Amino acid sequence: MKLVLLGPPGSGKGTHAMWMCGEYKIPHISTGAMLREEERRNPHLYEEIRHYIDRGELVPDELIFEILKERLAESDCRDGYILDGFPRTLKQAEMLEALGGVDLAVMIDTMPELIMERVRGRRVCPQCGKGYHISQIPGGKCTDCGAEVTIRSDDKPETIRNRFDVYDRVTHPLVEHYKNEGKLARIDGSGTIGEVAAEIRALLNGGV
Ligand code: AMP
Repeated sequence: MKLVLLGPPGSGKGTHAMWMCGEYKIPHISTGAMLREEERRNPHLYEEIRHYIDRGELVPDELIFEILKERLAESDCRDGYILDGFPRTLKQAEMLEALGGVDLAVMIDTMPELIMERVRGRRVCPQCGKGYHISQIPGGKCTDCGAEVTIRSDDKPETIRNRFDVYDRVTHPLVEHYKNEGKLARIDGSGTIGEVAAEIRALLNGGV
């Protein structure tokens, strides 16, 4: 099962990919998380891409393609994958066809007001990368490793505005693209995590 999750920042792609990878036994591949990981793994490369991420711009297609190509060649991707944050441009959608393609693109439709509230409350563990909404962790500590959670540098209000803008202009046209390919499914992402998860299960277990 080769899945792509589509939706603006805060629509819940990462949240749902986290349980889906356990349930469907295919890896969750977040290109955003992979890029942030480069800060530790390859600080030299990260210096080159930091300014894109910190301004809410997309890193160049070619660079993200190289990173993803390596990841999809790993053996755990043999039976499929859940892509979260890729593709983000039509060019990337074409590139993905060359790497293994897509069975289904799931668009998580969510109201803009809800998304803003979610993004404002979003926190991340700087040590293990686990994501939270602030309301889930009143003490402000990661439940897995105990580190104090932080706000992602690109979740700051000025950057987030640009990320929404980039999404509308450059990424949202992918919805039409996958619709034309007959590969688009839409689900209502405005419910609770449990409600949205139930919709995703009904969609996928109904037969991909
Ligand atoms: P995310 O964690 O998916 O919200 O991604 C965080 C940031 O990483 C984005 O705002 C981009 O700067 C960069 N990024 C992640 N995925 C991609 C991609 N597929 N293409 C270009 N830039 C990306």
